[in-house]
Amino acid sequence: MVDCLFCKIRDGQIPAKVVYRDDRCLAFEDIHPQAPTHLLFIPLDHIETVNHITAAEAERIGHLFVAAAKVARERGQAESGYRLVANCNRDAGQLVFHIHLHMLAGRRMTWPPG
Ligand code: AMP
Ligand code: ZN
Repeated sequence: MVDCLFCKIRDGQIPAKVVYRDDRCLAFEDIHPQAPTHLLFIPLDHIETVNHITAAEAERIGHLFVAAAKVARERGQAESGYRLVANCNRDAGQLVFHIHLHMLAGRRMTWPPG
């Protein structure tokens, strides 16, 4: 058993503002938003990092993008745009070791990111 914050949110053991759920993923509001919209899309299965994705899991990870685009459309943010980010390990600043796709929207982003 892994002690995982996002598995606990998935299981309802830790509260979160859930904005989307289907048979493969869950999306909720980031607790420290970095943009007017800051959501986290997680696969229901516990996968630690991008390095751990197997070929068999590729469809489930791709599904995170499908779900994010759907939520962006529903929120009227698809046309103006949004940023999707997946941090992997120390140099990217990964803090929670259950894969998640950050969705940032509602303001103009800068590039390169910090
Ligand atoms: P990362 O640095 O890519 O691992 O991102 C982890 C994200 O999880 C950060 O943006 C945190 O603000 C967010 N976070 C941490 N704890 C919670 C929580 N309990 N509910 C929602 N988001 C959280
Ligand atoms: Zn987990």
